[in-house]
Amino acid sequence: MPKFVYDFTEGNKDLKDLLGGKGANLAEMTNLGLPVPPGFTITTEACRHYLEHGNLPEGLADEVNAHLAALESAMGKKLGQSDDPLLVSVRSGAKFSMPGMMETVLNVGLNDESVHGLAAQAGDERFAWDSYRRLIQMFGKTVLDIDGDPFEDAIEEAKRARGSDQDADLVADDFKRLVERFKAIVREQAGRDFPSDPREQMDLAVKAVFDSWNADRAILYRRQERIPVDLGTAVNICSMVFGNLGLDSGTGVAFTRDPASGQQGVYGDYLQNAQGEDVVAGIRNTVPLKELERIDKASYDRLLEIMETLENHYRDMCDIEFTIERGKLWMLQTRVGKRTAAAAFRIACQLLDQGLIDMDEAARRVTGDQLAQLMFPRFASRVDGVQKLTKGMNASPGAAVGKAVFTSARAVEFAERGEDVILVRRETNPDDLAGMVAAKGVLTSRGGKTSHAAVVARGMGKTCVCGAEELDVDVRNGHFTAPGGVTVGEGDVISIDGSSGDVYLGEVPVEDSPVVRYFEGELTPEDGGDLVKAVDRIMKHADARAALKVRANSDNPEDSARARRFGAAGIGLCRTEHMFLGDRRQLIEKLVLAEDGAERQAALDALEPLQRSDFEGIFEAMDGLPVTIRLIDPPLHEFLPDITELSVRVALAGDGADATDRRLLEAVNRLHEQNPMLGLRGVRLGLVIPGLFAMQVRAIAEAAAARRRAGGDPRPEIMIPLVGAVQELEAVRDEARGILASVGEATGVDVPALIGTMIELPRAALTAGQIAEAAEFFSFGTNDLTQTTWGFSRDDVEAAFFSRYLELGIFGVSPFETLDREGVGRLVRIAAEEGRRARPGIKLGICGEHGGDPDSVHFCHEVGLDYVSCSPFRIPVARLEAGRAAI
Ligand code: PEP
Ligand code: MG
Repeated sequence: MPKFVYDFTEGNKDLKDLLGGKGANLAEMTNLGLPVPPGFTITTEACRHYLEHGNLPEGLADEVNAHLAALESAMGKKLGQSDDPLLVSVRSGAKFSMPGMMETVLNVGLNDESVHGLAAQAGDERFAWDSYRRLIQMFGKTVLDIDGDPFEDAIEEAKRARGSDQDADLVADDFKRLVERFKAIVREQAGRDFPSDPREQMDLAVKAVFDSWNADRAILYRRQERIPVDLGTAVNICSMVFGNLGLDSGTGVAFTRDPASGQQGVYGDYLQNAQGEDVVAGIRNTVPLKELERIDKASYDRLLEIMETLENHYRDMCDIEFTIERGKLWMLQTRVGKRTAAAAFRIACQLLDQGLIDMDEAARRVTGDQLAQLMFPRFASRVDGVQKLTKGMNASPGAAVGKAVFTSARAVEFAERGEDVILVRRETNPDDLAGMVAAKGVLTSRGGKTSHAAVVARGMGKTCVCGAEELDVDVRNGHFTAPGGVTVGEGDVISIDGSSGDVYLGEVPVEDSPVVRYFEGELTPEDGGDLVKAVDRIMKHADARAALKVRANSDNPEDSARARRFGAAGIGLCRTEHMFLGDRRQLIEKLVLAEDGAERQAALDALEPLQRSDFEGIFEAMDGLPVTIRLIDPPLHEFLPDITELSVRVALAGDGADATDRRLLEAVNRLHEQNPMLGLRGVRLGLVIPGLFAMQVRAIAEAAAARRRAGGDPRPEIMIPLVGAVQELEAVRDEARGILASVGEATGVDVPALIGTMIELPRAALTAGQIAEAAEFFSFGTNDLTQTTWGFSRDDVEAAFFSRYLELGIFGVSPFETLDREGVGRLVRIAAEEGRRARPGIKLGICGEHGGDPDSVHFCHEVGLDYVSCSPFRIPVARLEAGRAAI
């Protein structure tokens, strides 16, 4: 039988799968000899059993009994013992941190008797009754599913009766009355009494924590953060320590470095005479951690010492929750801390310089997604003519502009209409998650850098300014008031700067990020500050390590030149049909609709010089590097007039209809396809319309010859799209070879060009061995390969039903975004293997959108492709991930 319960002395930090992050790290700290209140962890495996079968696994109760008995004997008191009660916290803790998404119950073990014991032991009646009412309140909400408002209303009422708006003004008798009132609320709302048996309290709390894995907000958070649905949570049962025993007690959150910027120093928030939940909830305003030095120097010094121990031990920035109980410091949690993208790069290089990690590890510590975030624009450094409303805390960087909204629901509504919004709240709580997802940024008037809003926004990479205390936020009436009396209502545009904390009325212009300017070559690492320097160091290492090359998807000289500046090793996909958009569309239309050879030739003759000069420009931008030009692949409907519009025009004109329109309608009807994506496209079009591919190949060859004569070094590669059978490829290849040879003869310049194919149909993948006989390279077109493998129309399904599929967990992310390794990936593997077997040394690449997706880049590395190709802006991301995949 598996072991379901681990004492804190038994686990370690590597057991996150089983003990969750919190449990594994509590064990690690215990074993480091740090002051952790004793306790034990119930495993995620027990949770998974419970969620699957609806009951606790056999043997769990016995194990819990044994561990509870051991805890009681270590503490010298029993759970809920009436004269001196052992009290415990029951906390969730999954493998991946899900801040505030699941449940916690504190003070378990209090009842009508033990509350007196606690009062006597603590010498503080008020504290004991306050703790008891907190238990009933949390237990009611969490375990018995009671709405929180009646509890809050009762507290408000008690404060009103005292003529105060502060909890601190309530006295022991007030809390005694509140306990009675809370018990009545439980009875009314839950139809049962609050359980007085301490063990029953604990067992019910454990089940409630398990159940909270499937709370709506937890499900939504997992989807957002791509956390698998079936991990379950562990439960940590920990003896209580109290931060609310007077002014010599308190609770706080600390970071070993600034999670927003990465700077070293003392960062965190402290709240005197409070329990931990008060800090994270952002309900009361905290003081900066530095203040603790003044309040309790001994604890402050000890905390700093522990922070250093933890950072050296984890070799990373840690975040910490601690409590001071009457001058004694206790560690309640630590973990490798979430950080912003900029902090991740800076911290990795600082740890490198401290000798704590090596270059490989530094590259592991950052991600392509973080790099992508650093490439977003930010607000212009000089802001003229816009009114600054206030300054809050810079909780999560970036620049966000949008209409102010005051509820999560309104944020979602506006966003669904395509409008950018800033969610403005006094503070956020886990129920605001949907609104935070929908918003461009989050602004709160209360709470520190560790408040819910700040932690969650940083995790999402969303801009956040928190604790803007000068703002008076009135959520109920949908407006806030800034100093000077400016009132901002729903729909008014505001701009928030998550890097400085500034809040502006109106729209502030944004400018390029320094990281982009560095990639553009406009900023040297020396001039770009420590962030740019860190990016430069890590990029250089990634490039040195990468096995995959990174090419660009580009079809014009400007994008090609930028791609080259961003580090592209060539072009992996030049979509020639993109060269015929705009005015040139009509030339293709004429070609497709041509009724005889002369009309067709005229259209081709008009197209050829345009193509030639396009290619010359691209070859020049990519001089000396390979340029893969894909012959035209338009789904036909993109180049023909709209059939409905044309039909209406002809019908309305009746007998007077224009003759050209009639002819056009006839032809469009003839060519109309039900499934254009599966119709006359790619190689099929080339085989059906004589001269089309030939014209393109000639233009490529002549452009290359011209560049060569001008002293350039063009390296064309000709790529045939949508091939399903080797015979299709052979026909086009033979014709192309003939044209290359004849251009060579005519110009006197030899233009070598590889001829290869895209693999974007399952049949092509499955017959890759045959196809490789005729292809000098393969490029996986994973957009179409995903479409045809799943049978998902790439233009329709994402809007039609993907959100439902994601909700159901059929996949965790759209297969058009991240390559589906099991299905589409398997076809890629088969084709790569068979292709190599038939033609050793065949060049293999990928040019679907997946080429710039971090997870898919890692897959391409595993399969041993030669390169990935992606849009110019994604190139740095793909380079970084190619390096990380090789480490
Ligand atoms: C593909 O199908 O993956 C591809 C790159 O081609 P396109 O997106 O142009 O169909
Ligand atoms: Mg394609």
